[in-house]
Amino acid sequence: MLDEFQIREDIVECGRRLYQKGFVAANDGNISVKISDDEILATPTGRCKGFLYTDELVKLNHKGDVLEGSAKPSTEILMHLAIYEERPDVRSVVHAHPIYATGFATANIPLSDCVLAEIVTTLGSIPIAPYATPSTPELADSIRNVIRHADACLLANHGVVTCGRNVFDAYYKMERVEHYAHIIYVAKMLGGERVLSPEEVQKLYQIRETYGTQTHANPGCLACTEDCVGGDCVLYEKKNKSHDSRNATDETRISALIRDIIQTLK
Ligand SMILES: [Zn+2]
Repeated sequence: MLDEFQIREDIVECGRRLYQKGFVAANDGNISVKISDDEILATPTGRCKGFLYTDELVKLNHKGDVLEGSAKPSTEILMHLAIYEERPDVRSVVHAHPIYATGFATANIPLSDCVLAEIVTTLGSIPIAPYATPSTPELADSIRNVIRHADACLLANHGVVTCGRNVFDAYYKMERVEHYAHIIYVAKMLGGERVLSPEEVQKLYQIRETYGTQTHANPGCLACTEDCVGGDCVLYEKKNKSHDSRNATDETRISALIRDIIQTLK
């Protein structure tokens, strides 16, 4: 049986870490943990996550009705409830605005290429959910399709959401996303990251099991071949688009070349 008091302490501790690491500013961010089939503990709205008390947490049911606690739950609770609905395996959700990852989300650049071995074997691709107004049902709906296939995703022009089997698991994924985004940022400053080849990626996929990675929830990268779940894959459209744009670029180059040759022959 889950120890509710311990879970409350863990939520407070993860809130403290989110704030200390600068993953949230002021009252931003929110954390929740599903403690039974129809009970969720969530951080209250309007409170800095760095200085929470265990008795401030709000207990809700899956519809968002408050069962216990005098504060109002986080304004992003609809997004948390949508994730629990889409992913029965998830027991905790963490949402924050870490600087580098949110920078990528704001520039609309997904962290979806396979670049770092650690990320390929743990999180896989980190897609972007389309922009929707925070705290609305639209935001909750915007992440459904993405979170079905990913434990971590960027929220366009907003931040990051991660989920896991307990609050520390979800929190560590947030740390991992931000650390990765920082590395990719530095690599881009140094001339650009080298993407791993499909052969290198396949070898990493083979050791994912050793890491206990749930492959259904941690999608492959743009170079993936076996992990892709086709039209349901959050990266599928982009993969096809990048393929099309590569073809389009080739066609443009060939047309320009033909024009040059004709010009020379004239
Ligand atoms: Zn937010």
